[in-house]
Amino acid sequence: MSKSDIKGSFKVPLELRVHGRGGQGGVTLAKLIATLYSGLGLHVQTFGDYGSERAGAPIRAYTRVDETTVTNRNKVYNPDHLIVLDPGLLGPSVLDGTSSGALLLINTTEEGAEVAKRYPMLRVGVIDATSIARKHGIGTASVVIINTTLAGAYARLLGIPMEVVSEAYEKVGLAGDLAAAKEAYDSVEIFEAIESGEEASGGVEEYVLGSFPAILPLTGHVSERFAPVCTGDWRTQTPHYLFHEAPCNGECPAGNDVVGFIQTLKEDGVDAAAQRLLATQPFPSVCGRVCPAPCIGSCSRRLYDGAVNIRGLERWIGDNAEFPPIEKAENPEPKRIAIVGGGPAGLAAAFEAARAGHSATIYEANEAPGGVLRYGIPEYRLPGEVLDREVGRLRELGVKVVSSTVVNSEKLIELSAGNDAVIIAAGLGRLADLGFGELSGVEQGIAFLRAVKSGEKINLSEEDVVVVGGGNTAVDCARTALRLGAARVTLLYRRGREEMPAIDDEVADAIEEGVRLELYSQPVQAEGAGAISALEVAEVELYDYDETGRRRPVVTDRRRKIPCTRLFMALGQTPEAGLMPDVWQVEGERMLSGGAPLNVWLAGDLLTGAGTVAHAIGDGRRVAALALESNVAREEKPEVTPDGVRADFFESRPPMAEKHLQVADRLSSFAEVSEGITGPEEAERCFSCGTCTACDTCLYSCPEGVISRDGESYNIDGEFCKGCGICVAECPRMAMNMSGLESGRQ
Ligand code: FAD
Repeated sequence: MSKSDIKGSFKVPLELRVHGRGGQGGVTLAKLIATLYSGLGLHVQTFGDYGSERAGAPIRAYTRVDETTVTNRNKVYNPDHLIVLDPGLLGPSVLDGTSSGALLLINTTEEGAEVAKRYPMLRVGVIDATSIARKHGIGTASVVIINTTLAGAYARLLGIPMEVVSEAYEKVGLAGDLAAAKEAYDSVEIFEAIESGEEASGGVEEYVLGSFPAILPLTGHVSERFAPVCTGDWRTQTPHYLFHEAPCNGECPAGNDVVGFIQTLKEDGVDAAAQRLLATQPFPSVCGRVCPAPCIGSCSRRLYDGAVNIRGLERWIGDNAEFPPIEKAENPEPKRIAIVGGGPAGLAAAFEAARAGHSATIYEANEAPGGVLRYGIPEYRLPGEVLDREVGRLRELGVKVVSSTVVNSEKLIELSAGNDAVIIAAGLGRLADLGFGELSGVEQGIAFLRAVKSGEKINLSEEDVVVVGGGNTAVDCARTALRLGAARVTLLYRRGREEMPAIDDEVADAIEEGVRLELYSQPVQAEGAGAISALEVAEVELYDYDETGRRRPVVTDRRRKIPCTRLFMALGQTPEAGLMPDVWQVEGERMLSGGAPLNVWLAGDLLTGAGTVAHAIGDGRRVAALALESNVAREEKPEVTPDGVRADFFESRPPMAEKHLQVADRLSSFAEVSEGITGPEEAERCFSCGTCTACDTCLYSCPEGVISRDGESYNIDGEFCKGCGICVAECPRMAMNMSGLESGRQ
C-alpha cells in the first residue's frame, strides 16, 4: 500500500487530543503521532497544554493534521480522535466537544466490550498498554511509560502499516520501543460506533444516557450538550470586524483609496489596481510623479522603518498597467456641462461628469489642455507624453476640448445660458511682482517655464541667475536655468528651508544639481543700466506666526550685493481679474447674480488656492458632483489611530528607493530625473491599516477558539465569546473593534 493510499484512507483535517497525567508521556505521544502523519507527507502541528503541575496532575496534548500548513493555534476543542492514557480521567470533561463517530483509544485493564458499550456512538479502541509496556521494560517498575505502546495501537486503528510506524520510531530515536508498539498494534480491541438510529444492544443506551452526556455533532454548541460553557451571557463587550480609514486615505486630496489600490495590486495585480485607481481619478502617472504625497507623510510605517513609497507605486501602476477604457454610465437624463480651463481641476470635473453619462466640454485658452501640467511643470519632472496619455483617456471617454479659446465675461454668460452647469477652473493667472521696473533680464518665472516648455530656444550660458521664491515654480525655474547652461543659479527665499512650500524632494534635487539656496534673504533693489547686473539683498528675520501658520518675515537693514544677469520672480499667484461679469458674486464655490444662485461654480486653484495637482483633482471632482447633484464622497469610517496599528507585527524592511539619473546626465538634457521604482514589491510593505487582509491573527489569538474562517472573512461565535477583546488588541491593522451590548447579549 503506497503512502498516498494510506493517506487517502482517513479524513483530514483531523484534530487529536491526548489526556494523560504528568509523567506518563502524553505530550511525547502527541508528538510521536504527529511524526507518523508527517511521515505520510501531511502537515502537522502538536503541542502540550500543562502548567507547573507535579507528576500525576492531568495534562492535555494536541495534534493537528492537514493537507496544507496548519495555521489554527488554538487548543483542540472538538477532537476527532481522543486518546486517554489513564481510565481514571474518563468523564464528561475528557469527552467534551467529541462528536459521534469520533475515535476513542483508552488504556485500561477493563474488558474491551464493557468499555465500548459505554460509548456506543464512538469508535472505541481498548488496550492494556501499561501491561505491555511493563513487559517490555519501558520506564521503571513504578513509573511505566506507555506512550510508545499506545501509538502502536493508534496506528492500527487508523490502518497505518507497521513499516510507517517503524520509520517514525526510528526518526525520533524510539526504535527500542517498537516491539511493544507492535504488540499493541496486534492486540488492540476495536469496537465500531453504531450508526445513528441503529439500536444498541444490551440496554447500553440507558446506561450511556444515565452515565454520560450524549455525544454531540461537531459544532458542539447545541442545547442538549452537557453543561455547556456559554460565555456569551457574561460578556459586556463583543468584538466585530470594523474597517477603519487609513491615514494615507484620509490625507489624499484627490480622494484616492490608497489602501484599496495597494491591496488590489498585491492580490489581483497591476491591471486590477489601475481599475481601482480609475474609480477616483484618471491621472495616476501624473500624480505618481508630481504629487507632494501627503499620504507618504502620514504613512503608519514612517516611524518604523520608513513610509511606503505610495507615490512610486501609483506611478508604477500608471506606467505599467493595461488601462481599460473608463466606463461611462448610461444616463437617461444627460446634462450639458461646460468647463472653463483644462488644468487638472477642469479635467477632473470633466472626468466626473462624462463618466456619469453627461456631456462635458472644456474651453481652454491654450492650444492643448493640461494647465500648469503642460505649460509649467518642466519636462524632466513630467514628460509631455505621460500627460498626453492620461488626457487621452478623457478624450476616449467623450470629453470634448475646445482649445485656443479664451473665455471672457460675455462668453461666460452665454455658456451659463446654454448649459445645465458651468464650472470655472481657470487657475491663478495674476502674478506677483517685485516692482523693479522695466530692466531687461527681470522676468516672471512662469513665463520663462512656459517659453521653455513651448520649445523656445533659450541660452543662459555665462549668466548669473537668481530666482526669488520658495515654491515649486521657483525650484523649477532654478533647475531649468541650470539645464540651459547658467553659470550660477541662486535661489533666494525669505524664510527657512522647512517653510519652503516646494516639494522637499525637489529642493533636495535642486541642491544636488548645484542650485545655491540662500535662505532668510529678500531682494530689495535691482541694479543695471537697461539690463539687470546685480541685486541688493536684505537679510530677513522671522517674528511671530501669521494667520497662515508661518513666521512673519521682517526685512532688516543688513544688506549685501550679489551678481545677477537674470532674475526670475516666482512670488505666487492670485486669480486673474475681469473674467466674471461685474454683477456676479461668489458664495462659497457657487456664483450668484443679484443674490440668486446661478448654474455656475468655481473649482481648483481659482477657488481654493491650494496649489497642488491632487487638490485640484479632488476639488474638480467635488464641485462637478455638486453641480450635477451626485456624490463623490467616500463612505465615512472611523479613523485608524496612531497607536492602533501594531508595527511590531510586521517584518522590518526598508522602503524601495527610486532610481535617479546621475547629476551630470541631468544637467545636459531635460530627460526625466526620476525613473521611479522598478517593481510592485513595495506594495508588500503596506500595513493595509484599517482593512482586514484575512491574516488569521484574530483566529490564532482567540483563547476560546470561537473565531472561524468563512472564505476571506471570519465568523465569531457569540455564544461562546467571552468578550475578552484579545482578538481586537492583537489585530495588527485595526480592522476590528469592541462594542458594548445593550442587553448584555447579542
Ligand atoms: P491650472 O493648472 O492653472 O489650469 C487652469 C487652466 O485654465 C489653464 O489651462 C488655463 O490656460 C485655463 N484658463 C485660464 N483662464 C482661462 C480663460 N479665461 N478661458 C479659457 N481657459 C482659461 N503642484 C503639485 O502638486 N506638484 C508639483 O510638482 C507642482 N509643481 C508646480 C510647478 C509650477 C511651475 C506651478 C506653477 C505649479 C505647480 N504646482 C504643483 C501647482 C499645480 O500645478 C496647481 O495647483 C494646479 O495645476 C492647479 O490646477 P487648476 O486646474 O486649478 O489650474
